[in-house]
Amino acid sequence: LSRLRRTEPSVRSFIHVADAAAEREAEELDRRIATGGREAVGPLAGVIFGVKDNLCTANMPSTGGSRILDGYRPAYDATAVRRLREADAIVVGKTNLDEFGMGSTTEGSGFQVTTNPWDDSRVPGGSSGGSASAVSARQCVVSLGSDTGGSVRQPASFCGVVGLKPTYGRVSRFGLMAYASSLVVVGCFGSSVIDTATILSVIAGHDKMDSTSSSHYVPDYKSELIPQDLLESKPLNGTRIGIIQETLGEGVETGVISSIKAAASHLEQLGSVVEEVSLPSFCLGLPAYYILASSEASSNLSRYDGIRYGRQISADDLNELYGGSRANSLGHEVKMRILMGTYALSAGYYDAYYKRAQQVRTLVKKSFNEALERYDILVSPAAPSAAYKIGEKINDPLAMYAGDIMTVNVNLAGLPALVVLCGFVEGGSAGLPVGLQMIGSPFSERASYDAAVNRL
Ligand code: GLN
Repeated sequence: LSRLRRTEPSVRSFIHVADAAAEREAEELDRRIATGGREAVGPLAGVIFGVKDNLCTANMPSTGGSRILDGYRPAYDATAVRRLREADAIVVGKTNLDEFGMGSTTEGSGFQVTTNPWDDSRVPGGSSGGSASAVSARQCVVSLGSDTGGSVRQPASFCGVVGLKPTYGRVSRFGLMAYASSLVVVGCFGSSVIDTATILSVIAGHDKMDSTSSSHYVPDYKSELIPQDLLESKPLNGTRIGIIQETLGEGVETGVISSIKAAASHLEQLGSVVEEVSLPSFCLGLPAYYILASSEASSNLSRYDGIRYGRQISADDLNELYGGSRANSLGHEVKMRILMGTYALSAGYYDAYYKRAQQVRTLVKKSFNEALERYDILVSPAAPSAAYKIGEKINDPLAMYAGDIMTVNVNLAGLPALVVLCGFVEGGSAGLPVGLQMIGSPFSERASYDAAVNRL
């Protein structure tokens, strides 16, 4: 907590810090251990974690990064939060995000701008930028995020931490504020692969509160990791790895490309077979994603009508109440996406945009699944560049969207992907981290963990 208090004025990862409650819970755990021993507490006793503020936490503010939810305190915990708490982990606060998860820098928060701990003039990535920077600055041990199109993986890359996007349906979305329901999954950040593996085993699994959550078996991901002493030999013997050709071309920083290539040859030294693989539909993913995500958002966000949640405004009639609440409290990016999505779904345009985007989604899925029949893991950069300057892309939404090219396909196909630090490019005082993305088949989170043998 003292480290959090010391670093928070410059990093600004948290919208709400629950330090008093965290201290009370920690003391209570100490008391239970003093009387009953280690068995008297859960497996994650005392592990402090941050929670992206679009996940509901009982009796704690939950804003989704939006002013429209200012003052909202849910009566319940999101399932992922509840499961961690039941293991006696402690919520230390709610982390900053782009409003409702829409953005790639966390500058789109209705509350504050979070900085990158590697260089405070740069963005931490987004939308789960607060969760990534909090782990990177060691303000908490692990944190939860959500990933609709890259929001765990890209900030993990920018902040040099491990980020996991599980398979769609692997983790319950109950209590997660909906942005694009067919794409999003709750993910997590840690400073090591082991930490994220530990968390995943706790939060994964079927939940009767979320009918899209899978009842697929939940392994003990941590105990199945390759033992450290095997790392000297060739633990990846027999693993087939495909580098996605389309991700190492134009528009990708040269330092990023060389970091990924160095990581690939490291994976080869560890015994795997590494080849380039072409996914011709790769570049179609980005436009399809933005049509589909905006369409789902335009529908999902209709619940913020000024009546059900947050502050009420005074108005003479219903239209004034809806219009006034939304006009005043929703940010620019969110309004733009509601408009784009409403347009794409409207009668005359549905076939040209929404339907075509769904067709592209099918193509993308098919080409990933075919490649994953030949390879155990597909690798790519997590982002085309390292962290850029605050303000650099804020007025150029298309440039910001283009930065999501590496991650959105994985959501369209519902696949799991793990991001680990694999190199640095010049920038800041100590260099800027570059993340390697490892994509697996559905429910094969384990395979990516095994390949992430550098154990950051
Ligand atoms: N940057 C992407 C977007 O703005 C992804 C966001 C996310 O994964 N929540 O939609």
